[in-house]
Amino acid sequence: MIKVNNLGMHFGRGRGHTQVLKDINFHLAPGEFVTIIGRSGSGKSTFLDILMGLVQPSEGTVERTNRASMSYVFQKPALLPWRNVLRNVYLPLQVRGVRRADRLKAGMDALRKVGLSYAAHLFPFQLSGGMAQRVAIARALAEDPDILLMDEPFSALDPILRENMNFNLLSLWQRTQKTILFVTHSIEEALILSDRIVILEGGRFVQSFEVDIERPRTYESFQDPRFSELY
Ligand code: ADP
Ligand code: MG
Repeated sequence: MIKVNNLGMHFGRGRGHTQVLKDINFHLAPGEFVTIIGRSGSGKSTFLDILMGLVQPSEGTVERTNRASMSYVFQKPALLPWRNVLRNVYLPLQVRGVRRADRLKAGMDALRKVGLSYAAHLFPFQLSGGMAQRVAIARALAEDPDILLMDEPFSALDPILRENMNFNLLSLWQRTQKTILFVTHSIEEALILSDRIVILEGGRFVQSFEVDIERPRTYESFQDPRFSELY
């Protein structure tokens, strides 16, 4: 669905020049759940910004099949405090001019997918951190994107809630078969969630491998020796 060819990105010039991404080649197939893992500052968000078309790469190209549509879930849910949950969720559709009846339906469907239909009429201040993040995911789903990009969506949550959200997201993915590109700096999270993991280090994708689907996706799996050098 996405193919990235020899992508490079730098900011600034001369002495202030920073090369953030180098010679990146990457593909994302329909229905895949791929996680990009890398330390803070390794260029993960920059990569997603380029895929979304928010930022132009310095080198290389991004191809997208049939203009596959994408939605982006950020680290912070960024809900509008004066709109209730449902009205937050359908906001992108309203901006696009979708009819009221249609956006109400799409909004409720999306809330059902994240298990929050009961919260449709609550306001953001009434939500826990985990609920707010699920609302942000519902807002992305309401657009019915072909691809969901998620940039460290759970990193602000406490560990138990985060584990919960991981399993929530997995079951959502199993039910909807969306194509998901997930970014995290947590190895546990990457192993639990994805079909394929890509490691971003020094601006390059240094390693990419399939996760054994048969293996139970538990926190024990992060004992995997392949990750020892990342600690
Ligand atoms: P990550 O998401 O992996 O933490 P980022 O993509 O946010 O990393 O940032 C990667 C590097 O690029 C950092 O060193 C950051 O300071 C730099 N960077 C990101 N955006 C800009 C920008 N607009 N101008 C200059 N440097 C930037
Ligand atoms: Mg980031």
